[in-house]
Amino acid sequence: MLLQDVDSRIDRVSAEMNEIPREKLIHEKELASQEVEYQREKRKLEEIRESSGKCIESKKEIENRLADFKNKLLEMKTNEAYRAMLDQIEYAEKKMSDLDLEIIEKMYEEEQGEADLEEARKIWERNKKRTEKRQEILDGQLEVLKENMEKLMEERVEVSSEINKRLLVKYEQLRATDRGQVVVGLQKGTCGGCLTNIPQQTAVEISQGETYICPICGRFVIWTDDSSMAGAN
Ligand SMILES: [Zn+2]
Repeated sequence: MLLQDVDSRIDRVSAEMNEIPREKLIHEKELASQEVEYQREKRKLEEIRESSGKCIESKKEIENRLADFKNKLLEMKTNEAYRAMLDQIEYAEKKMSDLDLEIIEKMYEEEQGEADLEEARKIWERNKKRTEKRQEILDGQLEVLKENMEKLMEERVEVSSEINKRLLVKYEQLRATDRGQVVVGLQKGTCGGCLTNIPQQTAVEISQGETYICPICGRFVIWTDDSSMAGAN
């Protein structure tokens, strides 16, 4: 049936049209997650730099304190006070060497953080460009599909006008229930949709070009190239 053929083309075009915004959304989500990743790397680097700055500050502070301790050492009057000051100096020197190690560690972390940020930026940028191109292609495809759809709709109006009103209403009802093929062939004397046996006389009429509505499933049963009567192979 011509109308069913037009409708299945309409369904195909409509499915393709629905696919386009879906694909676009996938690209947009991917881009958004890459931006989130970039921002995360950026924050991570900022935190490393901040904590590295704090280490350097602490080190300066201890350096000053140490210089102060060394000056005071000479002024110590008693052995005990001298000892206590030496302990303080030893403690401060230990603290300083710990900080030196930490500062070197932070330097490595910062280098790694910079590389990670650059990598995240590249991935994001690259995908942004790719997505822009893809979106352009998709927009172009959508335009073509819209034109096709308009033509098909016009064709549908034309084809529908040549179909018996009563049959058309029935057809539209079936199509609205969306149970797949609305028009089926006579298959070995049965309805090609639900396999209900069709009376011999009716089958003959179908083979002569009559359109028959299956009383069980409501589909149109017609004679097709691979149709056959009951008992035939
Ligand atoms: Zn049937």
